Amino acid sequence: MYDSPKLIGLRNELIKNLLKKGIKNKDILKAFFKVPRHLFIHKDFESYAYKDEAFPIEDNQTISQPFTVAFQTQLLDVCKGEKVLEIGTGSGFQTAVLVFLGAEVYTIERIHSLYKKSKKILDQINLMPKKNIWDDGHKGFESFSPFDKIIITAACEKPPNNLLKQLKINGKMVVPIGKNVQKMTLFTRVSENKFEKRTFGDYRFVPMLRNKN
Ligand code: SAH
Repeated sequence: MYDSPKLIGLRNELIKNLLKKGIKNKDILKAFFKVPRHLFIHKDFESYAYKDEAFPIEDNQTISQPFTVAFQTQLLDVCKGEKVLEIGTGSGFQTAVLVFLGAEVYTIERIHSLYKKSKKILDQINLMPKKNIWDDGHKGFESFSPFDKIIITAACEKPPNNLLKQLKINGKMVVPIGKNVQKMTLFTRVSENKFEKRTFGDYRFVPMLRNKN
């Protein structure tokens, strides 16, 4: 795995920055230190990997801002061994963080080139999820449901009811909901038909689209 003292220094700065912005979970901060984020973006821009900003990747998609990844992960409250469904693999960085935290991850991406590329990097750094899937995540992954946690990293216009049904009782979903601007939303399935909802600030994600590509 390619790394350098300069990149390690930048990574340390990013972690201090995340701590200042309210990411207190030590395991998540450790994941940000251990997962080489520069491998998830184009080599010519590797130092940008440790700025707290979203960055363009292929096919008009983005690698989410580090704070957003850390914040969504903190809300998800992942424990070792939990079954986690991720919709929107993208670069694969969020996937790597979840695998590092010990989750059994099922990740779905609709764009074939991103599905392939993320799989290759995750394999190289030895943070492979249980399953990488090339598909439209709106369907979820019924045959492996129910999940302890579901994380969606693309914007949903309204609550994804089909996916909420794939949560265990007491399971949690973190999803950005809205059209141009999204509210980060945390759902907890408190019983078969009852979900608790909390919202946390405004975010901007690429839209969750239909069909695979
Ligand atoms: N966590 C990723 C975020 C990537 S952006 C990262 O930090 O790299 C969101 C991703 O969701 C894009 O790759 C996009 O192609 C994917 N996406 C959008 N709609 C989808 C759908 N219906 N099913 C699966 N993936 C989807």
